[in-house]
Amino acid sequence: MSDTKSRFSIERRGLDLRFRTVTLTAREWLAPGYVRVRLSGSDLEGFDSPGSDDHMRLFFPSGPVESLEQMREAPSREYTPLAWGDDWLDVEFAVHGDAGVGAPWAATAPLGASIGVGGPRGSAVLSGSPGSWLLVGDETAIPAIRRFASSIPTGVPARIVIETASVGREIEIDTPVDVEWLHRGDAAEGSALIAFLDRLTADDSVGDDPFVFIAAEQSVVKPGRALLSRWGVDSANAVVKGYWKRGEAEYHAPH
Ligand SMILES: Cc1cc2nc3c(=O)[nH]c(=O)nc-3n(C[C@H](O)[C@H](O)[C@H](O)COP(=O)(O)OP(=O)(O)OC[C@H]3O[C@@H](n4cnc5c(N)ncnc54)[C@H](O)[C@@H]3O)c2cc1C
Repeated sequence: MSDTKSRFSIERRGLDLRFRTVTLTAREWLAPGYVRVRLSGSDLEGFDSPGSDDHMRLFFPSGPVESLEQMREAPSREYTPLAWGDDWLDVEFAVHGDAGVGAPWAATAPLGASIGVGGPRGSAVLSGSPGSWLLVGDETAIPAIRRFASSIPTGVPARIVIETASVGREIEIDTPVDVEWLHRGDAAEGSALIAFLDRLTADDSVGDDPFVFIAAEQSVVKPGRALLSRWGVDSANAVVKGYWKRGEAEYHAPH
């Protein structure tokens, strides 16, 4: 695989960094522990996110703020833009308990609450046509997986593997292939994905020239990179990323 030239690449693009103020206008629980919110406001005009795994920073003030400076000082976390229009932006949150800032806000903030949106400041855009796809993640990666899955042409070999806590937490995702849901039960977050990745041998490739996306709790990074090497996939042409780290608030994944 590594000696043949790939029919796709990941291109980095800079975007104008803008800071916007938006208001919570709708909330829909898609499963226990998983919520979609709609953020609205005229500031969203011109918002763009060309890359499926782009991230923006959401700023969560603890109450009303009086200035943009105060909004910028609020604690912030990284999220994936799921879908947007001229004056709305949908975001999905893994609600992982009472800890943290972003998850509790998504679960409980009153409609009408304002938050800040910074970015995305850059994009990694998949261009060309992968020969096959492997998309792997936990709940935090579902928005990016939804976006990647919408680019998979019918008939192209693909596997989509998502870990959730338990049966009943699966989420409806529009994909050309059935999602393989793994359940971690009481085991550590990421453990079901790690076992899945470790089981994939060099012969288990999903197809030729695969695009591989793996994002979940940080412990998936090592087995994810090992899989790239077993499959002979150039890491510059794949995404393997810790989206959060157990026991660490506001984890910054290396880019
Ligand atoms: C590029 C990128 C895109 C992302 N996109 C999304 C997205 O679209 N939706 C989304 O929900 N998340 C997304 N994340 C993950 C999100 O940024 C983190 O989960 C973040 O830590 C959540 O902030 P918080 O304020 O809820 O918790 P924090 O204050 O950061 O953490 C508090 C505690 O909760 C733990 N924790 C954090 N996340 C989880 C979790 N998922 N499960 C269990 N424990 C957790 C931490 O280890 C810490 O102990 C993305 C991350 C990256 C890097």
